[in-house]
Amino acid sequence: MKTVGLLGGMSWESTVGYYRAINEGIKHSLGGLHSAKIAMFSVDFSPIETLQHQGDWEGTAQILSNAALKIEAAGADFLLICTNTMHKVAPQIEQSISIPILHIADATAQALLDAGVETVGLLGTAFTMEEDFYKGRLQDKHGLKVVVPNASDRQIVHDVIYNELCFGKTQSSSKLEYLRIIDELAKSGAQAVILGCTEIGMLVKQSDTSVALYDTTKIHAAKAVERMLSK
Ligand code: GLU
Repeated sequence: MKTVGLLGGMSWESTVGYYRAINEGIKHSLGGLHSAKIAMFSVDFSPIETLQHQGDWEGTAQILSNAALKIEAAGADFLLICTNTMHKVAPQIEQSISIPILHIADATAQALLDAGVETVGLLGTAFTMEEDFYKGRLQDKHGLKVVVPNASDRQIVHDVIYNELCFGKTQSSSKLEYLRIIDELAKSGAQAVILGCTEIGMLVKQSDTSVALYDTTKIHAAKAVERMLSK
């Protein structure tokens, strides 16, 4: 079994989900008392979030690159950045280490393409929904057509992530808003919707809607398990 590196803590609420999903995946595949070989560094999210909203992405890249180097030194064979948003600085992190990064947007695009999805809705932070590092990558590298909510709905989605989900809060009023926005995306032609923020799966489940949901935490963790067990 290869050792997976987890760059977590963004937020820790969602890193818990990665830890559980990867261990369950290994247990499911290998049985018995098998569990996942994981090297994790969980950062303090508060300074990261401040730097994000100040637009100081180089500052975040430095913190995350230092953490990634420690994960590599701890013996990881490859790295997961356990947040969609911070893939904005994946190129800088990649340059600082010698192990490969399993990119969350590539893992998700692969799952969508395998299912024959061509047009997909995207929910996440404003950075993820609006910028090329994520939305653009799905379109340009993978040929997916991506639809996002309108500006006021993007603001709602973004605010719920930072003001509620990253604090571990799930409110039924926010869930209703998310389900309304998911329906709007389907009406705009999305055949499926990406839960492109690693906390959204805490709020909205597949059983809440008939629209196909692609939870990036689950997909990323499942691809990690595949790679850990590959020759
Ligand atoms: N976990 C979130 C994501 O997947 C948002 C928190 C962050 O800014 O990293 O984008």
